[in-house]
Amino acid sequence: MSPATLILLYVVTLLVALCGVGIYSEMRKRRFHPTASVDRIFRCPDCGLVYTDDADVDRSRCSQCGKLNEPIEF
Ligand SMILES: [Zn+2]
Repeated sequence: MSPATLILLYVVTLLVALCGVGIYSEMRKRRFHPTASVDRIFRCPDCGLVYTDDADVDRSRCSQCGKLNEPIEF
């Protein structure tokens, strides 16, 4: 094996490793992002309580006075 081939192999290995790290961090970012905003925020107009509930519920019952509230949309 000639020195030029060794250097080429070294550079290619370094590039592949860098690409792997980049793809890995990008996948971690995408996996983390949806879990950060999975809950919906509700605000009760009767007692002023602000609380969160699951994203799949359309209306959530207030834990203080029992009123059904619509989620706050941003
Ligand atoms: Zn309430």
